[in-house]
Amino acid sequence: MTVNDAPNHRPVRIAGVEMGGTKCVCLLGSGPDAIEEVVRIPTTQPAQTLAAIEDVLTNWREDGPGFDAIGVAAFGPLDLDPQSASYGSITTTSKHGWRDTPVAPRLAAKFDVPVGFTTDTIGAALAEGRWGAAVGLRDYVYITVGTGVGAGIVVNGRPALGLSHPELGHLRIPRLTGDDWPGSCPYHGDCVEGLASGSAIEARLGYQGAEVDADHPVWDGVAHALAMMLHAVVLTVMPQRIIMGGSVMLGQRHLYARVTKNCGSVWLATSRRRQLPTDWIAASRRRALAIWPGRSAPSLSRSRRYAREGPERWRFLTLFLIGV
Ligand SMILES: [Zn+2]
Repeated sequence: MTVNDAPNHRPVRIAGVEMGGTKCVCLLGSGPDAIEEVVRIPTTQPAQTLAAIEDVLTNWREDGPGFDAIGVAAFGPLDLDPQSASYGSITTTSKHGWRDTPVAPRLAAKFDVPVGFTTDTIGAALAEGRWGAAVGLRDYVYITVGTGVGAGIVVNGRPALGLSHPELGHLRIPRLTGDDWPGSCPYHGDCVEGLASGSAIEARLGYQGAEVDADHPVWDGVAHALAMMLHAVVLTVMPQRIIMGGSVMLGQRHLYARVTKNCGSVWLATSRRRQLPTDWIAASRRRALAIWPGRSAPSLSRSRRYAREGPERWRFLTLFLIGV
């Protein structure tokens, strides 16, 4: 599937950049079946990393087929308020050196095409809605359980964005009876991320969770924390589906059944249904891409001179890449 809204009916070709804590993935393509190039770059310091991304994009523009727009999905927290002077920046991240780093303005100024910008989890959520496990759904939640815990909440087809993007991973939850480990979140200790993320598991055990068998008791606390978070999600969003991905979930598949069992009864009781929908809690579809005809991008164009206006129908398309 490609997007055919570009002039002359050729597919819109977009440069997608997923910025993760350990690596950045740059992609050139017009759909999940039309990926032309993928380049991975280690995430180091901002100046070095952003220069490497720019080199890839410059090469595609000058020696390759070029692109019509750029879509960036980045680790956060991010400033997504188009009226803010720091719109398009990574803000209060604990990742060393990255605090207050402008990303979207820099790329928009250099490449003179529309730039879409959102969080990695919202990008992944939109990807699932466009091409993945949430196709055709209106209200759903994507949750990643990896190095951290994050969520992209889609309501009525749009990502939930209030004053900023939601930070569901930092939800405080009732603890598993008898478990008093203080947790690893530098801000809250035993929030969901502090109990169930890959970094929390590693901090607790002294080695990575990928090496831990499914019957290890550490998973009791992880499954409980995730189930409590999903309990809150069910009662607030009542999603049609919850999609869970990230290295912890995808590496420990037994967690899907455990959290589904814990939360299914909540959904059934509050939704007054007799049975759970098929795949109500579903695994993320990796290698998905999303095109987002976003409404935040026009604001970027209006409020920031660096975003040049393009053809009306496709100027605000953004592309997001997950899991490649
Ligand atoms: Zn926290």
